[in-house]
Amino acid sequence: MTTETLRHFWIRFADRIQGAQDELNRLDAAIGDADHGTNFARGLARVKAYCQASEDDWSDAIKAIGMALLSTVGGASGALWGSGLLRVATRLPHAADADKATLTEAIDVFVTALKERGKAELGDKTMMDVWLPARETLHERLDAGDSGWEALQYVARHARIWAEATIPLTAKKGRAAYLGPRSQGHLDPGALSSAIWWECWLEEGV
Ligand code: ADP
Ligand code: MG
Ligand code: MG
Repeated sequence: MTTETLRHFWIRFADRIQGAQDELNRLDAAIGDADHGTNFARGLARVKAYCQASEDDWSDAIKAIGMALLSTVGGASGALWGSGLLRVATRLPHAADADKATLTEAIDVFVTALKERGKAELGDKTMMDVWLPARETLHERLDAGDSGWEALQYVARHARIWAEATIPLTAKKGRAAYLGPRSQGHLDPGALSSAIWWECWLEEGV
């Protein structure tokens, strides 16, 4: 994957979250504080501006994207996305481009960082309900002989199903956990924005 593709990918993600902003706010209003769409869209507007201007190599680009999200999104999701991406940038080698093995490794490092920081398990009604099955399925598909691209596409096609599976769950982490059983019946906003991240791979060649 070229760094240019990575930049285009993040610009697409910024545009998608911008478009989903109201829906994400509405979901967060039901079980949180109604700011997930606004905050993520603001952070990604910064990311988009960076991606449109930068010539950095891919690990520097990920670092800059992580820093932008960390400093402009705020809240639980800003800390998680930002620190996860910074971990990817420090763990993976500097290179002009990332090959597919590196991309898979980047996703592994990212999910591990999210898990360590947020301490959410599968079923806690958070973004991890997308990221944990995504990581597992990615490895399953690669083991079954899919190419890196095929495996990414497979996961991308399933991400929204995993996000929607958060609807009946009781939140155990984050703001929504204060609601206890009253959090049931609502889609988790962070799970939806993570599914949108995955869906951006359906349109982007790597
Ligand atoms: P805040 O709740 O601080 O306003 P956001 O509204 O931006 O932050 O993000 C809320 C989302 O963050 C939730 O929908 C959930 O997916 C995710 N989240 C919250 N806490 C955690 C956690 N401990 N681990 C993983 N994800 C979490
Ligand atoms: Mg919120
Ligand atoms: Mg908030």
